[in-house]
Amino acid sequence: MSTEKESLSVVIPAYNEAANVRPMAQALRQTLEREKIRAAVYFVDDGSSDGTWAEIGAAAAEWDMVRGIRFSRNFGKEAAIFAGLQTAAGDCCAVMDGDMQHPIETLVEMYRLWESGYEVIEGVKEDRGRESVFHKGMSALFYRLMSAAVKMDMRQTSDFKLLDRKAVDALVSLPERSTFFRALSGWVGYKSCTVGYRVQERVRGESKWTTWSLIKYALNSIVSFTTKPLHLVTAMGVLFLILSVVQGIECLVTYITHRAVEGFTTVILIQLITGSIVMLSLGIIGGYIAKIYEEVKGRHRFIVAQTIGMPIRGERDDDAL
Ligand code: UDP
Ligand code: MG
Repeated sequence: MSTEKESLSVVIPAYNEAANVRPMAQALRQTLEREKIRAAVYFVDDGSSDGTWAEIGAAAAEWDMVRGIRFSRNFGKEAAIFAGLQTAAGDCCAVMDGDMQHPIETLVEMYRLWESGYEVIEGVKEDRGRESVFHKGMSALFYRLMSAAVKMDMRQTSDFKLLDRKAVDALVSLPERSTFFRALSGWVGYKSCTVGYRVQERVRGESKWTTWSLIKYALNSIVSFTTKPLHLVTAMGVLFLILSVVQGIECLVTYITHRAVEGFTTVILIQLITGSIVMLSLGIIGGYIAKIYEEVKGRHRFIVAQTIGMPIRGERDDDAL
């Protein structure tokens, strides 16, 4: 293990990326050494079931600037990113995917921008790579909601970012457990800029997202970041109040003028619509109550089982600080 402190820490969440770890470490080393950037790479093995951890060990044996953190199980990419950021020692930290879809040249570009004084450098996708029509449609919907919530254009954002130490410290000191890194990096403020990059094709391994996990991720991100949907419930309530006043007046008028007809269809329709809106609203509120419950429990965001290339740390994230 090298004792030299790095200037750039590269945090890489890796879940079943055995085939990518070493090529990634080698490519990073080659480019960063050529560019004379003092860097350390933090692979966070998010409970992989393949040989990812062994590969991280092999990469660390090849290059003493590789460090590894292994979770006791799969805690998700957000947790992996935060574990890396908590442990990283550099003056700035970059987060990039472990599948080589984020170009290393862009990382160098981000680092140069950081040197020139920027504190939060966000990677934006210039093209989204190959995705199915369904995936494109769903992500468009999700990003429209999120963009409205965070008041910035989220469509092209990604988790590929470089943050100054100040921004990293601000992020890791947030008490919340359920996070949405992509939006939080903008939330901390500081002098920021964006860098466009082209998403590379995944060469080895496969994407970890299933349609269901993406839907869960999207809902979770929205509920973690914004309370807008709760206001939507109020707005629906107001809309229905107005409709019911109109309908009520109409009812009374027909009653008074003795023209009251059966109107059974209307009754059924109103029942159905109000019923479903009430259920939907309860669901949204329930979603937030579940989040509050999770946060109040205050469980650890992740549990570290093993580390490589750094002093042995405790079992839990608190000790890993
Ligand atoms: N990843 C993770 N934990 C998970 C799922 C994914 O750490 O539960 C990592 C994965 O190893 C990769 C990055 O997150 O480095 C992006 O995942 P993936 O390539 O599957 O997503 P996509 O590029 O398809 O959006
Ligand atoms: Mg990928």
